[in-house]
Amino acid sequence: MDLNKVPKFKDQLEDIRASLLGEVAKNLKSNKEDFVEAEPDLTDDATRSTNRQLLLNLGEQDWDQLKKVEEALDNIKNGVYGICKKCEKAIPEARLELVPFANHCVQCLEVIEEEKRIDKLNNKDLN
Ligand SMILES: [Zn+2]
Repeated sequence: MDLNKVPKFKDQLEDIRASLLGEVAKNLKSNKEDFVEAEPDLTDDATRSTNRQLLLNLGEQDWDQLKKVEEALDNIKNGVYGICKKCEKAIPEARLELVPFANHCVQCLEVIEEEKRIDKLNNKDLN
């Protein structure tokens, strides 16, 4: 990875994070207003657990993305950005340009997807 290119990826990652967090804030705000009108006497505990649910309203995929983005930003800080977590080889820049928060190279990702698919099949058998 050309270190001169890292700031560009960092900018992209921060943009993605800002827009994901913006969604959370929007969800929280609009839901909170409805919520206060509907249930004025809820306890703090109920409010807290509702907030957790609202955060989850961001969607599993978005949460997943947010986690990856934050991980990638951490990696930049630690000087290990763009390195595949599985095989520890450099992730090609062309891939990072498409997916700046990628933490696996394409080859390893295929292996992981396949493992997930098999896992799912196995779980289905159990149920
Ligand atoms: Zn790899």
